[in-house]
Amino acid sequence: MKHISLLGSTGSIGTQTLDVVESHPDSINVVALAAGSKSIKLLADQIRKFSPELVSVPGKPDIALLREALGAEHKRLEIVCGDEGLEAVATHSKVETVVTGVVGFLGLKPTAAAIRKGKRIALANKETLVAAGAAIMPMVREFNAQIVPVDSEHSAIFQSLGGRKAADYKKELAKIWLTASGGPFRTWSLEQIRNATVDDALKHPNWAMGPKITIDSSTLMNKGLEVIEARWLFDVDPASINVVIHPQSILHSAVEFVDGSIVGQMGVPDMRLPIHYALFFPDRVHSDKVPRLNLLEMHELTFEKPDITRFPCLAIAQRIAAENNTLPCVLNAANEVVVDFFLQGFVKFYDMAAQIERVLERHKPVEKPNLDDILDADQWARREAVQLLSAVRH
Ligand code: MG
Repeated sequence: MKHISLLGSTGSIGTQTLDVVESHPDSINVVALAAGSKSIKLLADQIRKFSPELVSVPGKPDIALLREALGAEHKRLEIVCGDEGLEAVATHSKVETVVTGVVGFLGLKPTAAAIRKGKRIALANKETLVAAGAAIMPMVREFNAQIVPVDSEHSAIFQSLGGRKAADYKKELAKIWLTASGGPFRTWSLEQIRNATVDDALKHPNWAMGPKITIDSSTLMNKGLEVIEARWLFDVDPASINVVIHPQSILHSAVEFVDGSIVGQMGVPDMRLPIHYALFFPDRVHSDKVPRLNLLEMHELTFEKPDITRFPCLAIAQRIAAENNTLPCVLNAANEVVVDFFLQGFVKFYDMAAQIERVLERHKPVEKPNLDDILDADQWARREAVQLLSAVRH
């Protein structure tokens, strides 16, 4: 029996994780759940179905709402809240694997706490490594924790490397081929992209994901953040990570070895596949949830070079990827704020890159940052971004 906790249980990754868990009732036990305030009713349903021992919600009012939704049935369930609540879920003593499905910077502190307890992290929260890779990776080594990526591309790379540790493939690995679908604007002209609306950007061609990551996919910032994520996760020079547009999203990424062999991982674009792999790693277990890929029905797989003129966010992130300081954290924070302003209609689609650049330019980076430096940089960047954007908002 594997014992897991799940951060962000009502979000896109969370619900898909529980979907996988549901088909393996005898091998996976959900010990603890954490969720946001938006879907208390769904959280109550999840509690009825999976009977966790501990649940965390954002605030005290959410505890009351959840108790009300649960009724008399789960009176003895322990419900906690706030940052400490998230941490309690992430560090529960019975838990071996923590699935981090929360969106954004919120995932950093509980992930760090779980690493200090030597847990295995099924990492779906890329912001943790993007913002704090410089501080997190040394902790992973120090506390003998392990990160198994859930991000589909990184899962593909991890699988292609045989799930080995960096020291074991270091001499063999020449390059990473990081695939991107290209998002909804892949074939749009610069002029069309300038006039893209929020609805246009939210229509992802292949993947069903939450709104923040869907916008990041439409700007290709998501791919840029994934370059940074891969750099830390696989301990490689970012210059050896090649982004390639692959509109069918069938090859989820590949590695090129020093002898010229390219090994990749293919499958249908369905997040339950990397989630399933991370939950059972290092074993492979039958899945009846994930649809099968029929190669006989695959008529073409195509690859193209990304266009950084139409998608400047990718170039910004690729430039920042090599930094060993607080700039990646500032990039991540500024992007979160800018995406939020875009979703509310206060920033135009194509202006997002320039706004992120303005925040980056104002930052005085701290070299080799620790977790506190990163938390400070994050707060600074958010304040700065909100201030700059409020001034341009009309
Ligand atoms: Mg991805």
